[in-house]
Amino acid sequence: MSRKRGRLFVISGPSGTGKGTVCAELLKEIGNEFSVSMTTRGPREGEVDGKDYYFVTREVFIENIEAGNFLEHANVFDNLYGTPKDMVLNRLERGRNVILDIDVQGGLQVKKAMPEAVLIFILPPSLAELRRRLEGRGTETAEKIERRLGQALNEIKLIGEYDYYIVNDNIDEAVALAKSIMAAEAARVPEAVKPIIRDYENESKQK
Ligand code: 5GP
Repeated sequence: MSRKRGRLFVISGPSGTGKGTVCAELLKEIGNEFSVSMTTRGPREGEVDGKDYYFVTREVFIENIEAGNFLEHANVFDNLYGTPKDMVLNRLERGRNVILDIDVQGGLQVKKAMPEAVLIFILPPSLAELRRRLEGRGTETAEKIERRLGQALNEIKLIGEYDYYIVNDNIDEAVALAKSIMAAEAARVPEAVKPIIRDYENESKQK
C-alpha cells in the first residue's frame, strides 16, 4: 500500500473542559504526534521548553510571524500563541497524524489554510460545571474565572465551524469518542484517490 499522508486534527474548547487530558490520551496511540506551539507566555511549574511549548519573547514571536513561519497564530488571554508550520507539514508528509491543541480563533485559521483538517470541539457539560472545575484548580483569581467563563461562551458560539463535538462529562467516554472520530477520519476516502488506485493497478499488472 502507498504511504498515506497523515491527518491534521484540531482540538479546541474552553479551558477547563479536559482538552489537555483528551490530547494526552490520543498521543498514546501509535502514529499520533503533538504539535508543540510557540508562545510568549511564561512557563508554568513543570513545563519544559520544547516539549510543552517553545517559550519565546514577543520580539522573537513577531519575527516568526513576519517570516511566515506559523500555520496560525492568535492572542489568547493577552499572550501570543502560534503553530509552527513546517513542523506540522513535515509530520503529515511522513504519514503521521498531527494533533493541535489550539483555541477557536486558531482552529478557524487552520480550517481556512487546510480545509482537510478535522476540527473537534470539546464542551463542558454546562457552564456551572466549568465554573466548578476552574474554581477547583485553585490557580485562578475570581476575576480571571469570570473572564474565562465569558470567553468560553464566545468560543462555544463558534461551534458551527467545527466538524465534531464531544461533551466531556466523563473523561473515559470523551477519550473513547475522540479515538472513534480519529479512526473514522483515517478511513475517509481522501481527495487524492490516485495513489490508492495505483497500488491496485500495479498489483494487477504484476499478474
Ligand atoms: P495555556 O496557556 O493554558 O497552555 O493555553 C491557553 C489556550 O491557548 C488554550 O486554549 C490552548 O488550546 C491555546 N493554544 C495553545 N497553543 C496554541 C497555538 O499554537 N495557537 C492557538 N491559536 N492557540 C493555542
